[in-house]
Amino acid sequence: MSALPLIELRAVTKTYGQGATALQALKGVDLTIEAGDFVAIMGPSGSGKSTAMNMLGCLDTPTSGEYVFNGVHVETLSRDQRALLRRHYLGFVFQGFNLLARTSAQENVELPLLYRGEPTKKRHVAAQKALASVGLAGWEHHTPAELSGGQQQRVAIARALVTEPAVLLADEPTGNLDTQRSREIMELLWGLNVDHGITVLMVTHEADMAAYAKRIVHFVDGVVDSDTRNPHPAGTAHGGSVPTSMAATAAEPL
Ligand code: ADP
Repeated sequence: MSALPLIELRAVTKTYGQGATALQALKGVDLTIEAGDFVAIMGPSGSGKSTAMNMLGCLDTPTSGEYVFNGVHVETLSRDQRALLRRHYLGFVFQGFNLLARTSAQENVELPLLYRGEPTKKRHVAAQKALASVGLAGWEHHTPAELSGGQQQRVAIARALVTEPAVLLADEPTGNLDTQRSREIMELLWGLNVDHGITVLMVTHEADMAAYAKRIVHFVDGVVDSDTRNPHPAGTAHGGSVPTSMAATAAEPL
C-alpha cells in the first residue's frame, strides 16, 4: 500500500460564472482520503456536495487549489488525461441508474470495456463475472425495463466494477429505492469496501445510509463543516463475490 493518501483536496475552490453572477460553490475544501475508506458526503442542498463529487471524480477541475490523486496533480492534467484516469481508476454510480434502456444488463455492463477497446470475449467474461458479483447471475439478458429498481442499481454497480476501479463514486445511490432495496445496495457497497478494498465515496442525504460509511464528511455552504469517524458502521453482511483482482489498485503508479 502506498504511503501517500489516495486522495487529497487542498484549499479547493470552485466558482461558477463570472463577474456579478459568479457563484462560489466550494470555498476552500481540504480533504484527505486514504485507500480503503468508505466516506459518506452529506449536507444541505446547495452546500457543494455534487461539485465536490465532480471534482473527486475528475469530471471537473478546481478554480484554485490542488487535487492530488495517488500522487498525481489532477488540476494539471488535460481533459484526455483526466478521462484516462477516470477510465482506469474510478467507477461511477448514480441515483437514476443511467442504464441504456433497450440494452441488456450484459451489454450495459460491457460498455466501459467497449470504450476501452477490449476484445469481445474478454468483455463477455468480465461482464458476467461483475453481474454475478452483484447477485445477478442469470439476469444477463434482461433489459432495464424487466428489472426492479434495486436490480437496475445492481447492474449499474456491476458496470462501475467491471473496469476494476480503485474508487467507487456513488451519488445518492439509494435515492430512488425503497428502504429494503436501499439496505441491500448499502450492504453490497459495504462488502465491496471491506472484502475487496474498494474505496467508496458516496453522497447521501439519508442518515440511515450514511450509517454504513466509516466516515461522514458534512458540507455546509461550500466548506467541510465536520468530518467524523463512524465507530460502528451499519454494514454486516459480506458483499458480492468480486474476484480479489478487483481489490484497490491504489498502490500502482498511474
Ligand atoms: P449540492 O450537491 O450540495 O446540492 P451543488 O454542488 O450542486 O450542491 O451546488 C453548490 C452551489 O453551486 C449551488 O448554489 C448551485 O446552485 C451552484 N452550482 C452548481 N452547479 C452549477 C453550475 N454548473 N453553474 C452554476 N452554478 C452551479
